[in-house]
Amino acid sequence: MHKKSLAELSALLSSGETSSVELTRYFLDRIAMYDGDINSFVTVTEEQALQSAAQADKMIADGKAQVLTGIPLAQKDIFCTQDVRTACGSKMLDNFIAPYNATVVEKLNATGMPMLGKLNMDEFAMGSSNETSFYGAVKNPWDLERVPGGSSGGSAAAVAAGLAPIATGTDTGGSIRQPASLTGLSGLKPTYGRVSRWGMIAFASSLDQAGMLAHSAEDCALLLQGIAGFDEKDSTSVDRAVPDYSADLNKPLKGLKVGLPKEYFGEGLDSKVGAIIDEAIAEYQRLGAEMIEISLPNTHLAVPAYYVIAPAECSSNLSRYDGVRYGYRCEDPKDLSDMYERSRGEAFGYEVKRRIMMGAYALSSGYYDAYYLKAQKIRRLISADFEDAFSQVDVIMGPTAPTTAFKLGEKADDPITMYLSDIYTIAVNLAGLPAMSIPAGLADGLPVGLQLIGNYFDEAGLLNVAHQFQQSTDWHRQSPAAYN
Ligand code: GLN
Repeated sequence: MHKKSLAELSALLSSGETSSVELTRYFLDRIAMYDGDINSFVTVTEEQALQSAAQADKMIADGKAQVLTGIPLAQKDIFCTQDVRTACGSKMLDNFIAPYNATVVEKLNATGMPMLGKLNMDEFAMGSSNETSFYGAVKNPWDLERVPGGSSGGSAAAVAAGLAPIATGTDTGGSIRQPASLTGLSGLKPTYGRVSRWGMIAFASSLDQAGMLAHSAEDCALLLQGIAGFDEKDSTSVDRAVPDYSADLNKPLKGLKVGLPKEYFGEGLDSKVGAIIDEAIAEYQRLGAEMIEISLPNTHLAVPAYYVIAPAECSSNLSRYDGVRYGYRCEDPKDLSDMYERSRGEAFGYEVKRRIMMGAYALSSGYYDAYYLKAQKIRRLISADFEDAFSQVDVIMGPTAPTTAFKLGEKADDPITMYLSDIYTIAVNLAGLPAMSIPAGLADGLPVGLQLIGNYFDEAGLLNVAHQFQQSTDWHRQSPAAYN
């Protein structure tokens, strides 16, 4: 069952060959069996999942089912879930139970997708290895000594190990694509504004976007259909018609113009990863695509600009955790300042504190022009690079991450090296573009992801390009031997 696509599961449900309760039970059993080692779930919502599954079965029996009805999923623990703790990987929110559902959660609940539980993640989505979580590191199912990537590391590990058919994720600088790459999954970060951020705990609001980690582009298309669309509760949500994301999957790629940015193939790219990306490009040529070398000249400025903008926004967003309204409060504060200081000091982890300090500094008077304003100007230049590129090509391709999954602890004490894990993904968030990572091969037994970057709101185009590759290769069907 854990090898089946969402469309196959949907067919089994509608023909009555299986029920949502059976399917949900099946995945709950796998979680119980395997997640002790992997640590991908922070909360398993067994009872609630089975209840929702029974309701989904009723929807199916009453002829009210949609494609996704009855298929269980797991939610990244950054999405607020009514009556179920939303901790966002942090001690700060270890006791937080949201009084409402995020729009993404609400939409998927309404479709009748039972929620198996909440997935581990880097604290407040800050990280690339899932090692900053208050709930401990997540292990990569391909090799338990390695990281699954981050910050959606729990989402990636759970789907890769077959503990959930699909999972939500969020991507501020690469947090869907980089873990997808490191665990052999298909991950999609939609255009900024395509999916509502309402009820999704904010890290850097101008960059955050919700998406999913799945086994295939076809599965991504189905889930995107379930979550995309305008939401008046999110002021940055875009009011634009939602196309049928599955309609164009089978379009032939003949004549597709693919841009290969020369900056994505230089120094820093592991040679084995590079060789696999080259093979994937050759496959696309066989499928009729035309390769065009392009340049994104400001690529080298993306990581530095991001590490001014994202911390600046996070220092502002995270100021709400003051020990007063919700979240952690220290014991016996002496006075108000003591309460603020100790509550924040005791409940935030090291990486979160580092970012709050960097951000507050970059925004402070006297430094604002030198750092924040300059970073915003660079952001504009990076968007302009992509605009130029998309005047010549339909899609951009390159590696998702410079290496395969690294060892736990290998980069944990070296933030700069860790930040460079996202060197190919971050510019996309600065520009607000949609992008995917799809599995393209194995290097020494570890998955390598190919990144596809599309023009604004061209998720359907990206999904088509990804799906065609998955029709002619079977890298997306590989799974870690221990969890077969
Ligand atoms: N790894 C990047 C960071 O630490 C991106 C995280 C994300 O996309 N949420 O900020």
